[in-house]
Amino acid sequence: MTSDHDSKDPAAAPAPVSNFITDFIDEHNRSGRFQKRVHTRFPPEPNGYLHIGHAKAICLNFSIAAQYGGKCNLRFDDSNPSTEDQEYVDSIMRDIKWLGFDWQDRLFFASDYFEQTYQYAVQLIKKGKAYVCDLTPEQMREHRGTLTEPGRESPGRKRTIEENLDLFTRMRAGEFPDGAYTLRAAIDMAAPNINMRDPAMYRIKRAQHHRTGDAWCIYPMYDYIHCVSDSIEGITHSLCSLEFEDHRPLYDWFLDELGAYRPQQIEFARLNITFTVLSKRKLLQMVQEKVVSGWDDPRMPTLSGLRRRGYTPAAIRNFCEKIGVAKANSTVDVGLLEFCLREDLNRSAPRAMAVLRPLKVIIDNYPEGQVEEIECENNPEDPAAGTRKVPFSRELYIERDDFREDPPKKYYRLSPGREVRLKHAYYITCKNVVKDGDGTITELHCSYDPESRGGGTPDGRTVKGTLHWVSAAHARQAEVRLYDHLFSKTNPEESEAGENFLSNINPNSLEVLSDCWVEPALAQAEPGSHFQFLRLGYFTADSQDHSSSKLVFNRSVTLRDSWAKIEKKGA
Ligand code: ATP
Ligand code: MG
Repeated sequence: MTSDHDSKDPAAAPAPVSNFITDFIDEHNRSGRFQKRVHTRFPPEPNGYLHIGHAKAICLNFSIAAQYGGKCNLRFDDSNPSTEDQEYVDSIMRDIKWLGFDWQDRLFFASDYFEQTYQYAVQLIKKGKAYVCDLTPEQMREHRGTLTEPGRESPGRKRTIEENLDLFTRMRAGEFPDGAYTLRAAIDMAAPNINMRDPAMYRIKRAQHHRTGDAWCIYPMYDYIHCVSDSIEGITHSLCSLEFEDHRPLYDWFLDELGAYRPQQIEFARLNITFTVLSKRKLLQMVQEKVVSGWDDPRMPTLSGLRRRGYTPAAIRNFCEKIGVAKANSTVDVGLLEFCLREDLNRSAPRAMAVLRPLKVIIDNYPEGQVEEIECENNPEDPAAGTRKVPFSRELYIERDDFREDPPKKYYRLSPGREVRLKHAYYITCKNVVKDGDGTITELHCSYDPESRGGGTPDGRTVKGTLHWVSAAHARQAEVRLYDHLFSKTNPEESEAGENFLSNINPNSLEVLSDCWVEPALAQAEPGSHFQFLRLGYFTADSQDHSSSKLVFNRSVTLRDSWAKIEKKGA
């Protein structure tokens, strides 16, 4: 009963890939542009927890570097102090390590470059390539123009270099209120690409930074500090998502005007998944509005949520490998993510028996007080997993759904007079149904065939149904949490007029069953350990709430068997 057995499994190292990014790298290696170096970075902004979309970027950056014997940095893009926090920095590092990647001694913070970034800005001012602007955000928008009309130049453009240097120095010194001035790049207000119309480089903002405290009251804009950070670190290939394609000319402009080393920016398509929202801002909103229990709610697409749900690093890495990278946006079926988890847990998760909605079975001809320890295999997929003993006695629990008084066609489970097999144990036949005053079935009386132990009989008769069970006197009570998609729409962003994505929340995404019974060995399950509950799916002991005195299991993913289908038809 291990947890996260697999995070560093070398067998899981991805095979070399070939795609439009490796084409770029191969071309650079041929031309010698980066002296055959490959150095990537993963640049999260510490303003939320990582989600599965970030996992795609992490796997991509670390794997591409590894494939070429290169390096990958972890760099926090922490230039917007009002939304950033140390809690996020810590969670991001934890999640990347958990995924199985290692930045070694290459942990960087954009905020460590604030001084250099400032000096570079001074350099651009001195070159006449940056100026201090006093337009308000609204005026700036008016001046910007549209896709079809050029913009108008800011009056600040007319300032002399001396005036600009003086004002910028005083901006840094804290002489002006927030928002009074910005520093802008002097590029081209008529550029067809709006990102090139004199973009802002610095804003005045008095905010406590989680690392630099109040040392600064001006902060660089993302587009400016990002390329500068890449340049300082000697990044060769700066992989980013598609929405930055139109920012690439600006990336190149800053570094070329500074005469600084310039990496190659390459854009790839973001990951979108059906029934899932992948935006930190929206995930934060769900946390703040308590739509979920926290960033690690097992229904969240965050890495901490997926981990708590029972996702393994190997399953997520495999998923990222399977989806690959492309230049065009698309949406991946959430079923593929679930498939990857099933595939991994099928190999690694020990089997156990648990009954989620119990119905008592009394075997009238089984000796009172007798207990047999039945040897059960732990994992048919893994002979090395061995066996365990499961107690069998006269009173058992089976699933309520495994009995029908009036069985529909093709229902092969228990019904009056019908014989079924109890997994690993005996054949039983239902003799009598006991009900309470309301007609609810309270228990079944059955007989067993003592000759059928282990699942066969001397006369060779067969039965169609095999049920899982637990011994009532030995089983431990547990809480089991069943999850469904957090959103009920394939694309949760599609909402009715006047509504937002929260109107698509699935009201039935969590079902808590508190009267479940599990085989006694599960009392020793460690938080975070994974199991296949026979016929029910893969389950993970909850990392927060599970202990040996209160057993709590999350359903990680259902089984892909016909049971669920028959269930529906039979209903
Ligand atoms: P979000 O929109 O969720 O807030 P972000 O892009 O603002 O994401 P960052 O912290 O800036 O979040 O992202 C760090 C890196 O992860 C960036 O290089 C970004 O391109 C990448 N990334 C973020 N979301 C996805 C996604 N859905 N698919 C692939 N890469 C992503
Ligand atoms: Mg971002």
